[in-house]
Amino acid sequence: MLRLEDVSLNYGSFRALNSVSLHANEGELVVLLGANGAGKSSIFLTVSGLNKAAGGRIRFGDKELTGQKPSRIVEQGVVHCPEGRKLFPGMSVLKNLLLGAYVHRRDKKGIARTLEEVFSLFPILHEKKDDAAGSLSGGQQQMVAIGRALMGRPKALLLDEPSLGLAPLVVKQVFEVIQKINRAGTTVLLAEQNAYAALQIASRAYVIESGRIVMEGSRNELLNNDAVRRAYIGA
Ligand code: ATP
Repeated sequence: MLRLEDVSLNYGSFRALNSVSLHANEGELVVLLGANGAGKSSIFLTVSGLNKAAGGRIRFGDKELTGQKPSRIVEQGVVHCPEGRKLFPGMSVLKNLLLGAYVHRRDKKGIARTLEEVFSLFPILHEKKDDAAGSLSGGQQQMVAIGRALMGRPKALLLDEPSLGLAPLVVKQVFEVIQKINRAGTTVLLAEQNAYAALQIASRAYVIESGRIVMEGSRNELLNNDAVRRAYIGA
């Protein structure tokens, strides 16, 4: 289980996260809903060790993640797929994918096996493996970003706005893949503005406003909640 307890984060004098407590059970798909600037990315950056919490604890199973280096957190199986993909556009698709294994994996055979799994999930990436990542469509680049995260062999995957800027048909494909990854056993924490689509595949969700958790519930509780529908679903 991935668990945040009372996690706070400051950017200078600005308090971006205020005593955030949330968890994802093993194998769950948990969604973080929130408007722009609510703090979703800040939560992920703090879990993955790129931001330093001002207070609170982050644990994964019996491992303490609080204060650990990002590379150590990846080693523990918690992998972050950042908002905006953050690919190396001039490098090939293959090299971008392999970067996901670079920090903590030395098992060449295992890496080759994971690469095959990524290619079977995203056949188009196999076709385009020698192309520059920057030459791919937005949806394909998002697949590279997810594939790179999978190369790290995540037990828990933090997906930050994977549908951002994608055409509706592509969004559907991306959500199908996320569901597939989750069903294969990976715990997923998914930050999304596309609330309706995200809730469809979620078991639970949290709503974040101004750095605080303001609501928590099952998929159906949130889908049927008037305030959530008005603010995030537009229905
Ligand atoms: P978005 O979808 O727009 O990324 P978000 O919910 O992920 O929204 P965050 O990116 O976590 O929100 O931002 C939370 C708050 O912290 C916002 O007010 C944002 O302006 C601020 N913020 C984010 N990064 C920094 C930073 N490096 N320095 C100062 N303030 C920051």
